[in-house]
Formats: sequence, C-alpha cells, structure tokens
Amino acid sequence: MNSRSDTTHLLAQKGLKSTRQRNAVLRVLQQADEPLTVDAIFMQLRENQVPVSLATVYRMLDLFGEKGLVTKSVASASRATALYQLAGQHVTHVLRCMRCQTTVPIQPCPLDKLEEHLRLQTDFEIKGHHLEVYGLCPQCR
Ligand SMILES: [Zn+2]
Ligand SMILES: [Zn+2]
Repeated sequence: MNSRSDTTHLLAQKGLKSTRQRNAVLRVLQQADEPLTVDAIFMQLRENQVPVSLATVYRMLDLFGEKGLVTKSVASASRATALYQLAGQHVTHVLRCMRCQTTVPIQPCPLDKLEEHLRLQTDFEIKGHHLEVYGLCPQCR
C-alpha cells in the first residue's frame, strides 16, 4: 500500500483535511519503530524538506491526540519528555539509559500475553500499551 494514500485515509477517517504537513507527520510516525519526541519528529520533517514550524508540529500532534490518531506518553527516563506514536501501532519497547539516553530494544513484547489476558478478563477492546524500563548503562553506572 502506498503510504501517502494510507495516511490520507487515516486523516479522512477522523474527518481531517489532508495536507502535506499532516501526511508528513503521520508518515514519520508510521516509519518510526519507537515513540518519538516532538523534536525528533521535527528533525525528521526538516530532513524530508517539509516546510513546517515547530509550533505547527505541536499543534498537529495535539489535534491528532484529540482525534485519537496519535497517543502520547511521558518517559520519565528522558526528563519527562512527551513521546508520540500512532494509535494502535505497536512500537518496539526499549530499555533506556537515564543519563546518555542509549536504548536497547526489548523483544519480543512481554505485554502481548497480558493484553490478551486482560481482554478476556474484562472484555475491554484494548487499543495499545506503553512500557518503560530505565536505568544506567554499563558506561554510565
Ligand atoms: Zn548511559
Ligand atoms: Zn508491546
């Protein structure tokens, strides 16, 4: 599937107009394999030569959050920085060094079984989860 029409479809589903900038932000999130900070999203957009300001990226992420397109979490290991990911997209969880921000992927996801268990137990429709593990890497401890 072509990712441009794919993100256009996501926007349309939420009643949002498709713009180059909105599609670009969604594509950055789609291609990420871990939750991203606003700064990381912004840098990626600059690299892709999308003309957009940081304030606009913040506004778009707020809007996407309200519409349930994007979920926001806060990683305490990275100085309470907000992290964004596409709703319903499973990202690789990481073990993060609180000092140098080095990350190690946690694979496979240990929460898939828990989700299934919770779904059966509570009849919730589970939409996603966050997992944060942090500490000091061998260089920093
Ligand atoms: Zn470290
Ligand atoms: Zn997971």
